[in-house]
Amino acid sequence: MALAPLIGLTTEQLVTVAQEAGAEPYRGKQLAKWIYGKAATTLEEMKDLPSNFRQKLAESYTLSPLSVADHKKSTDGVDKLLVHHGDQQVYECVLLPYTDRVSCCLSSQVGCPMGCTFCATGLGGFDRNLTTSEIVSQYLLLQSLSPRRISHVVFMGMGEPLLNLASLVPAMKIFHEEIGLSYRHLTVSTVGLVPQILELAQLELPIHLALSLHSPHDEIRSRLMPVNNKWNVRETFEAMKVYQKTTGRKITIEYLLIDQLNDTQNQAESLASLVKGVPCVVNLIPFNYVDTSQGFRRPIRERVRAFRQVLESKGVNVTERVERGHDIAAACGQLAGQHTGKFARRDLSNQIPLLS
Ligand code: SAH
Ligand code: SF4
Repeated sequence: MALAPLIGLTTEQLVTVAQEAGAEPYRGKQLAKWIYGKAATTLEEMKDLPSNFRQKLAESYTLSPLSVADHKKSTDGVDKLLVHHGDQQVYECVLLPYTDRVSCCLSSQVGCPMGCTFCATGLGGFDRNLTTSEIVSQYLLLQSLSPRRISHVVFMGMGEPLLNLASLVPAMKIFHEEIGLSYRHLTVSTVGLVPQILELAQLELPIHLALSLHSPHDEIRSRLMPVNNKWNVRETFEAMKVYQKTTGRKITIEYLLIDQLNDTQNQAESLASLVKGVPCVVNLIPFNYVDTSQGFRRPIRERVRAFRQVLESKGVNVTERVERGHDIAAACGQLAGQHTGKFARRDLSNQIPLLS
C-alpha cells in the first residue's frame, strides 16, 4: 500500500492522524511543529515523539514525498533543484536568497499544457497537476537548505498555477496558517485564465497576482500565447481589474521582451494606455534564450531602456527582473528540459486541452 504524505495536512488533520494512531491529540500538534516549524525530513529526528508512535506512523505515512534528481548551485547563491515523486516525472524549484529576504520559486504542474511559444516548459508538454503535498514539500525542501527563513513564495516554476487551484489554494493556506507566511508574500503568476482569476478574487485573500501579458496587441499576444485566442487582452485585463479591486492588492503585469517583436515603442504606448489608472507595476523580463525554432532573440539593453522610458514617461511604475542563476539555467523549464533524455519525455498531445 502506498504511504500517504504527512506534508500538506493541517494541524487539525495531524491531530486526527495522531488520534487514529492511538496517541494523544497534542502529539498531532508536535508533528505539525516538526514538519512546518523545523522542516524535519525524517520521522526519526522527531525525538520528543514516542518511538512506538513514530513506528505506527511509518506504517501508513511518509514525511517527504520528494526525491532530488539534480541539484545545481549558482555562483550567485541560487540553488535549483529538480525533484520527483519516485515516478521520474521531474519538476523544478529554486531557492532565491536576497540581501533583505529569502524567496523561492515553486512549480504547480509537471510540465504545462498552455503551449506558450517562448517557454521551455510549454514546449515540453504536460504530464499532471502537482498535489498540495508536493507543492508544500518543495518549500520545505528548499527551507532545509537555507540558513535563513524563506519568507516569500512565487509560483513561477513549471506549470500554470490557476489550472491547479484545487491543490494551490490548500497549499497557500498551509503557507499562511501553518508556516506563518503572509498572503501578501505569496505571488501567483498566470498566463491569464479569466474564470480562475475571478474565482481567486472571490476568496478575497491578499495574494499577489501577476499576469503574463507580453503584448497589449491581440495579434502578437496570440502568436506568443495560444490562451489569447480564448480570452483576449481586454477580457483578461478586465478580470485583473476585478482582482485588484476585490483584494485591494496592486497587480503586476509581467512583460517578456523579445527583440523586434513585442518591444516596439508602439506597444509600449498601448501598454501604458491599457494600465492607466490601475494600481499596478509592469515588470520587464528580457527573453531568456530558449531554442523555440521561431528565431526569438533577446533585445539589446538600449531597446529595453527605450521601452521602459516610454512607460515611465506616461507615469507607469516599472521594474526589471533581476536575473539570477544564469549559469545554472534557472529560467522556467530550462533545467527539466535538459533532462528530457534522462527522464520520460512528456506527451505533446496533451497540449492545451483547455482550448480544444
Ligand atoms: N504559467 C505561469 C507561471 C509560470 S511561468 C505564467 O505563465 O505566468 C513564469 C514566468 O516566466 C512567466 O511570466 C513566463 O512568461 C516567463 N517565461 C517563460 N519562458 C520564458 C523565457 N524563455 N524567458 C523569460 N521568461 C520566460
Ligand atoms: Fe505554461 Fe507559463 Fe510556460 Fe506559458 S509561460 S507555457 S503558461 S509555464
